[in-house]
Amino acid sequence: MLEYKSMSESTLRLSVVIPIYNERDNLHPLTAQTLKALSGQVPSFEIIYVDDGSTDGSAQLLDQLARNHAEVRVFHFDRNYGQTAAFDAGFQQARGELVATLDGDLQFDPRDILKLLPLATQYELVCGWRRDRQDTIVKRLSSRIANFVRNAAIHDGVHDTGCSLKVFQRHVIERLPLFKGMHRFFPALAKIHGFSMTEVPVSHYNRAHGQSKYGIGNRLFSSLYDLIAVRWMQARCLRYIYRKDQHDLQ
Ligand code: UDP
Ligand code: MG
Repeated sequence: MLEYKSMSESTLRLSVVIPIYNERDNLHPLTAQTLKALSGQVPSFEIIYVDDGSTDGSAQLLDQLARNHAEVRVFHFDRNYGQTAAFDAGFQQARGELVATLDGDLQFDPRDILKLLPLATQYELVCGWRRDRQDTIVKRLSSRIANFVRNAAIHDGVHDTGCSLKVFQRHVIERLPLFKGMHRFFPALAKIHGFSMTEVPVSHYNRAHGQSKYGIGNRLFSSLYDLIAVRWMQARCLRYIYRKDQHDLQ
């Protein structure tokens, strides 16, 4: 059992936020694997599914899973708004002191959350790193180009910004300025605010069922465009520190 001594006993320890857009055949195994991985290992946890306007029956299946498992909570969008919106809604609903994010397509092993958790007391953001990435050549190549350009432009200091498996301390998600596409820049956004972060290698698998929601247009090109916004935020972010002799701070 992992201990978080600095955290109060009464509150929920971990929220796992998972965006879902048409992942019907992955939902049962994903839920079973996540429950199995965390039960008995984390004092208390919840799994938050955000259904991003699925049309393949995922919505009904998610409701069924929430009825059958007390740890599962489900929120439905009225249409598809995109992965960042789904993360944002999950962050708003999360009650944990730590918030993990995961994909809904079984490309990750939920047991790897346990690899990141011990570091999450020390670092405000712990990022997974898909060292042995199991994706198509087109996807790996476009990711390599995007990584190169991103690092050159914003120096966020991580190898794998797009890895969805991450663990955030709660106050970090409360500070991230989120806009469409920004889920690819969580480390850069955290760094802008001076939060500490580290990386942990995680396993990666081929998608179990269903299809990827991204191609070159809505991943590579849009993330290169989004870099302009991240650069701007880096330059314009408000960072201020009160003088040490200021007494009436809460
Ligand atoms: N997703 C989402 N809304 C979208 C696109 C994707 O909620 O508009 C979810 C999707 O169901 C999955 C995760 O985001 O759980 C990552 O998507 P995908 O696996 O297609 O991305 P890839 O692994 O190909 O980068
Ligand atoms: Mg995927």
